Order: sequence, then structure tokens, then C-alpha cells
Amino acid sequence: MTRSEPRSLLVVGAGIAGWRTAKETRKAGFEGPITVIGDEDELPYDRPPLSKQVLTGEREPESVHLTSEDEIATLEIELRRGVHVTSVTAGQVETADGERLEADAVVIATGARAAVPGLVADQPAVRMLRKLGDSVSLAGDLGRADSVLVLGGGFIGAEVAAAARAHGTDATIVEALPGLLTPLGAEVGGVVRQIHQDAGTRVLTGTPVTSVDAHDDGASVELADGRVLSADLVVAGFGARINSEVLGELAGPDGVHCDDHGRVVGHPGLWAVGDVSAWYDPRSGRHVRREHWSSASDQSAIVAHAIVGLEAPRFMESPPYFWTDQPGVKVQLIGWPELGDSDGWLEVDDEDPKAAYGWYRGDELVAAAVLGKPRLFVRLRKELIALARPA
Ligand code: FAD
Repeated sequence: MTRSEPRSLLVVGAGIAGWRTAKETRKAGFEGPITVIGDEDELPYDRPPLSKQVLTGEREPESVHLTSEDEIATLEIELRRGVHVTSVTAGQVETADGERLEADAVVIATGARAAVPGLVADQPAVRMLRKLGDSVSLAGDLGRADSVLVLGGGFIGAEVAAAARAHGTDATIVEALPGLLTPLGAEVGGVVRQIHQDAGTRVLTGTPVTSVDAHDDGASVELADGRVLSADLVVAGFGARINSEVLGELAGPDGVHCDDHGRVVGHPGLWAVGDVSAWYDPRSGRHVRREHWSSASDQSAIVAHAIVGLEAPRFMESPPYFWTDQPGVKVQLIGWPELGDSDGWLEVDDEDPKAAYGWYRGDELVAAAVLGKPRLFVRLRKELIALARPA
């Protein structure tokens, strides 16, 4: 390390982005003190299984932990759990009990939480899914319930419905928009809808919810068309809101703006990673915030390398990637659909004309969504990685 490089590191938020930044920084050769502060009591853990295998009961809750006490000790990282940070500035962080901690480099990794629109704001019986505890208690209740209403047909709502069916519970998805999984477009969303219906889920789209009345022993929901639906449980999947309240002017509504290595614009010594961050994307010339596990993970390694003054790893050039498990099929999206000027089903599988959907800019494939078909996905991914590399 050179003298200008930081000698101490403080990470705020102990999700995948925060934990991985700390671990990768140590592994990249950083010798100074590293402290990670997170307000959850758990060890850092992975969120994707919370709406998948933990919810169906296929995985034990402890299996989602990203680290162990032994590894934390070996890496000589101080992990402070259950500590809420109330303010963050370059060089200094303050906690809820008034403690001030200083470090040369501060990494913001506060992530996001489940969005709670006014419709369900004062209704604790409406279930949300963001934390490990949410998933564990919902898994138990899904197993006991006869029926569940899922408000929101996005990725998490659709996965909750899939998990409910795996428990043998009746599931209804209610979505205000015309289709499910709207970021994947109407065509892919239509196939996913059929998969859910084939699995026994009732799917209502284009039907906004106007009121919700939920109690511990059941719920009823009124729709804009006057229908009233009842179930034993109601789960809301209305997207996420960034945890930015403690960041003051560092965060805008679309996250903390960073350069393409995670340095917070205009604030030397501060970095941001994961769901809360909006990194500069040279491809689109904009700051882009992604709520994807792989972005959080890749960004952590890039920041870790930058902190110790090393070249960023090659995967900095990786196209954005997201996956979701729908009933019996993994759906993977890779690339930049927003850059496409045309799109359609790709003629890549003789037996299945709806195996992959592509977005093109001119003749160039810029994004693909693949339904199942792991080998096909690997092939298309290579094509998109080649595109991502600078000429
Ligand atoms: P988070 O995981 O939100 O972690 C931030 C941490 O910081 C939290 O522990 C929070 O409590 C803590 N924190 C916040 N503010 C403070 C503060 N002031 N002081 C101290 N601590 C604080 N992505 C995919 O690509 N594929 C999937 O299939 C997929 N499935 C998902 C399923 C679920 C149920 C959820 C919730 C997310 C899923 N995601 C998926 C998204 C992915 O998990 C996120 O992109 C990833 O967790 C982001 O990591 P993060 O560390 O930035 O934020």
C-alpha cells in the first residue's frame, strides 16, 4: 500500500454488500482495522433464499449465513451487530447510542427495506419479506394456512406464491399492472403467468387493491372492480425503498451517486455499494441503481480492490445479471434491456420457441431472458460478456 491509501475501514450495513466489501478488502491485503456495523442481530446472511428455499422449508435458516464467528475472527474483522448508525460523513460515523467512530475509508452499504405503501401502513398483520425472521415466520404460517393472498406480482410476490403452492396452500396473486414480472416485458411475463396458473395459482392482473383489512386470523382485500377476496394470510410485495434516512445529502431519491468504482461523487473517503448505491454506468452515461444480488457482490470486490489500490477485477465488465425462481423454472435476465430498440423470442431452441427472449440494439444482442435451459444461458452470457468488454 502507498501512504495515500486508507489505513482504517468502516462499513455501514452488514448485508452481502457490506460484509463482502470487508472480507474482500482484507483478502486483498488490507492490514488496518476493519469494522462492520449492522443493525440486525443476525450474522450477515443472503436474502435470495428467503423467498425461495427458506420459505419452502428446503433450507435451514442458518444455512443462509454468509460467514461464521470463526471466519470473522480469522479475518480480524470487528463485526458490530444490532447497532444502528444515525449519521455518516467522510471519516466519521455516529451510532444510536451516541458513539463516534472514525476511519479513513467509510463504505455505505445500508441496502433497502420492504416498501410499505399507505394502503397497508398500519396493518401489522400484512406480511412483508426482507429479513431472515420474516421468512422463517412466514414459512411456518404458509405451512399452516389454507389460503394466501399475495399483493404484488413482482419477483418476490411471485416467488411467495410459488412457495405457498409448494406448501399445498391456495395462492392468489393480485397485481395492479397488466402482467407479472414487468421488468421482463409482457411476453416473458405472460409465459411466467401461465406457469403460475399451471401450478394452481390464481392470477389477477390489472386489478388495483383499494383496501386491505388484515388480522392475525385472516384478511380481506377489496379490489378496484368491487370484488372482495378473503384468505388466511396476506403478503405484500410492493418493491423496496433504500435505507437512506441517515445519509442526509449523500443520497438522492435514486440512491448514492458514485463513480464506476464506487467512490461517492464529491466526497473523498466515502464509498457506496449494493442496493443503496447508484454507480456511474459508462455504457448508458447515467447513474444506475440495481437491486440485484450479483451487483452487490461484484461491486464489493471492485471497491475492495480500489481501496487497496489494486486494479479492479475483470468482472467489472460483467453485464448486469438477475435470476428468479418461478414454479419449476429458473428465469435469468442478463444484459441491458433498456438499451434495446427491438425485442422478441430468440430462435435458439428447436423444441421450445419460448426458451429465451432477446433485446437488440440494431443487430446487436444487448440483453436476454432465459427460462430454464442452463446451457443456453451460458452461451448467451458469453455473447453478452464479449459485448461488455471494451474493444
Ligand atoms: P441489504 O441486503 O439490504 O443489507 C443492508 C444491511 O444494512 C441490512 O442488514 C440493514 O438492516 C443494514 N442497515 C441499514 N441501515 C442501517 C443503519 N443505519 N445502521 C446499521 N445498519 C443498517 N436478487 C437477485 O439478484 N436474485 C434474487 O433471486 C433475489 N431474491 C431476493 C429475495 C428477497 C426476499 C430479497 C429481500 C431480495 C432478493 N434479491 C435478489 C435482492 C438482493 O438480495 C439484494 O440486491 C441484496 O441483498 C442487496 O444487498 P445489500 O447489502 O446492498 O443490502
